[in-house]
This record gives sequence, C-alpha cells and structure tokens, in this order.
Amino acid sequence: MIDRLTKEQRSWNMSRIRGKNTKPELMVRTILHRMGFRFRLNRKDLPGKPDIVFPKYKTVLFVHGCYWHRHHNCKNATTPTRNREFWIAKFADTKERDKRNQADLKKMGWIVQVIWECHIRKDPVLAVTNALIDAGLIDEDEPYPELQSDTLQSRVKERFDATWSKEK
Ligand SMILES: [Zn+2]
Repeated sequence: MIDRLTKEQRSWNMSRIRGKNTKPELMVRTILHRMGFRFRLNRKDLPGKPDIVFPKYKTVLFVHGCYWHRHHNCKNATTPTRNREFWIAKFADTKERDKRNQADLKKMGWIVQVIWECHIRKDPVLAVTNALIDAGLIDEDEPYPELQSDTLQSRVKERFDATWSKEK
C-alpha cells in the first residue's frame, strides 16, 4: 500500500508511529519538569495509556499528533488520496477510541486534557500552561516567572526547532 504523502506529512506520521518519546511529548515533559511537576509516563493500566499522568492531581495529559488523532480543522489532519475509504474508516476508529478512552477516564474520576501537536510546535509553553490551567493544576494568575522568561522559551525552542526543521 503506497500512499502519496508530502515529506512533512510523512515525518508527522513517522513521529507518531515511533510512538513513545515523540518530540512534542519530550518538549511537554521538559516544560513540566521545569515547572517542578512530577508525573508518570504511559500508564498502561489506564484507558488509552495516557502520555503523562499526574497521580497526585488525578489528571492525565494526552499529547496528540494532529494527523492520527484528527485535530479538528487543523491543516495537518489531511487524508491521503489513495485508499481514501480505508483511511477514513481508520481515522474514524481512532477518533472513536480516543473518545471512549477519555470518557472512561472521566468516569474513573480523572481530569483529562489533550495537547495538540501543532499548538506545541507553535508555542510549547503556552500549550502546556493552557492545558494545566484548564485542568485546574495551576492558577491563571499564578506566575511561573521562569516559564515566562525569554530564556526558557528560547532554550526550549532552540533545542527542538533544530530537530524539527531537519524533519521537514
Ligand atoms: Zn493541529
């Protein structure tokens, strides 16, 4: 089965296929560490194996690739022209599974947040802090001075931009 994908799509797909330790996930973890959070990774006993788990706050974060997880209205959520029907069905399955896992987690009393890959690429610190604010883990007004600092922003960006631009 050969799909015509652009180079960029391919690298997005590959980063997802490699699964654990994708760049966006590493970036989120780096930022969370800087903020002093402690968390666990890929807890297999929870529905959907959430990427990041905060047991203390009963909160999970999913770092979702826009392509596989079909980020709504996102330019990265393209559909291959070849075997179109197959992919549409496959994507529908993924969406359904995500929905079910998240519903199950919530039923179990977990707070669930999704961080989208394109948001991380655009502004990782903002993407992470928004998710934490929505989850109620941090206060919108509570300053995290070192996160706001240009130093961290640029250090995180530098480190990951280099790798990402190579992928394209
Ligand atoms: Zn997206």
